[in-house]
Amino acid sequence: MSEENIVHEDGKKSLNFIESTIEKDLAEGVNNNRIQTRFPPEPNGYLHIGHAKAICLDFGIAREYGGVCNLRFDDTNPIKEDTEYVDSIMQDIQWLGYKWGNVYYASDYFQQLWDYAIDLIKAGKAYIDEQTSEQIAQQKGTPTQSGVNSPFRDRDVEENLALFNKMNTGEIAEGQMVLRAKIDMANPNMHFRDPIIYRVIHTPHHRTGKAWKAYPMYDFAHGQSDYFEGVTHSLCTLEFEVHRPLYDWFVDELKRFHPEDGTYRPRQYEFNRLNLTYTVMSKRKLLLLVKEGLVSGWDDPRMPTICGFRRRGYTPESIHKFINKIGYTKYDGIIDYALLEHSIREDLNAGAKRVSAVLDPVKLILTNYPEGKTEMMEAVNNPEDESAGVHEIAFSRELYIEREDFMEDAPRKFFRMTPGQEVRLKNAYIVKCTAAKKDEAGNVVEIYAEYDPLTKSGMPESNRKVKGTLHWVSAAHCLTAEVRLYDRLFSVENPGEEKDTDFRDLLNPDSLKVLTGCKIEKELENARPLEHFQFQRLGYFNVDTDSKPGKLIFNRTVSLKDSWSKLKNKD
Ligand code: ATP
Ligand code: MG
Repeated sequence: MSEENIVHEDGKKSLNFIESTIEKDLAEGVNNNRIQTRFPPEPNGYLHIGHAKAICLDFGIAREYGGVCNLRFDDTNPIKEDTEYVDSIMQDIQWLGYKWGNVYYASDYFQQLWDYAIDLIKAGKAYIDEQTSEQIAQQKGTPTQSGVNSPFRDRDVEENLALFNKMNTGEIAEGQMVLRAKIDMANPNMHFRDPIIYRVIHTPHHRTGKAWKAYPMYDFAHGQSDYFEGVTHSLCTLEFEVHRPLYDWFVDELKRFHPEDGTYRPRQYEFNRLNLTYTVMSKRKLLLLVKEGLVSGWDDPRMPTICGFRRRGYTPESIHKFINKIGYTKYDGIIDYALLEHSIREDLNAGAKRVSAVLDPVKLILTNYPEGKTEMMEAVNNPEDESAGVHEIAFSRELYIEREDFMEDAPRKFFRMTPGQEVRLKNAYIVKCTAAKKDEAGNVVEIYAEYDPLTKSGMPESNRKVKGTLHWVSAAHCLTAEVRLYDRLFSVENPGEEKDTDFRDLLNPDSLKVLTGCKIEKELENARPLEHFQFQRLGYFNVDTDSKPGKLIFNRTVSLKDSWSKLKNKD
């Protein structure tokens, strides 16, 4: 919807189906041309990347059409809700770059919803059912077979009112009775078969405490909350499409009691939810991972939560890019995780400072380089952005290079370090390996090489052709750090769909690898939590929130290898 929107030659950008609807409504003067949306999370967990898709639409539409988007906490179920979640949700929305008009809580409408329920009872359109939930379910029928009327369906109004009041005083046990709308037990849309609209819950509510014992169900709260607030376009995911007729029914009935509101009415529109490969997107499942210690918390960098991505090094821009790429449609599917990685890579390529870090260090000694000498080499901060400038990196006789950049008996196409072959040390000299020392077990412990003093960048011989360029840090001038490498959280593409397996058994046992003793250049000494870098040749990394001066910890946000571009090029 924003910068990545396709603009056609005639200057018109292509609209998604929601934008088309809105432009049509504006052209027809629907709801006096007011545009109001809402983002309605239930405060029962942290937001995930799927919510980001809804947020970008709800807030994006309001921004694009000069409307307002409010934040509404859909807090109608006290059992699972908590203020901790309220705070995190607000933080995540702001991090994505959005501002809400107002903050509302569905619980603010408990009185209005109650009054409406009373109106329905009085109009003979709701009744108290004392059957068990199993009995009610049995009478529901099937899509092709009508349901059966409850024996309590024709209870008189006075008795319904009295019992409804009791549902809210604490005299009625949970599950003992419910309030149902009296609609049509034969309706082909199962949602019309006398839906339950109120139930009893004795758990105190995180905002209203013990004031209420009778709580409205989602279907009875959502559309009405939209109506009370003045929402015009209520955007939600496709699974609510079948609820829409009921949404409209409740709004129609409510409007009967509020003729003063004229032609205004909210309307619901559904778009496809985001599903991503190799992860799960249900708050219930994510909560289990947290509670059982299978991840370190909601913000574990492997989690698909917004705070997890933030800690991992994703930027708000990268998430916007991703959401723009996948778009909004009317059919569900699953998106390749590699597309998300492609988006963060694109963003960090443009903005991340290039530095040197050696994750699996082995010593390289330049035998012909003077002992005790230090040279400061110039390193370009970002080849994509000249204005990012340069920084200095110390060079000396003893360096660290990556263990896998050396091979003793190398095949012909190995262009890195092997005896007799020249390689360039990035920003410094061309060197030629002469020998390597091994321990008793055969592990290489030191590599020896000679440097060519005429090959420093800018010198006459510096353009000599060598095939490999290696990164390095100076042993006497580097810092030691911990680096955390992440892989997919799950080892199968669609862990949510594996019906006969517990999703927890599908976790990837190698999703976290902790490397200690990594060597990084001094430039990173004062790196602050969440700051990001490109470790040359290795990937994009950021400073973890656990990191402290003297105990630096980095996360690999994403490697440099772009499997998405590769996939695309194959097509
Ligand atoms: P979960 O099933 O994970 O608990 P939810 O849909 O119950 O998610 P809510 O807090 O009710 O979570 O969601 C708030 C809003 O975010 C809703 O409008 C919902 O449709 C939307 N949303 C939730 N998950 C996704 C998703 N995967 N893709 C797009 N929108 C989503
Ligand atoms: Mg929900």
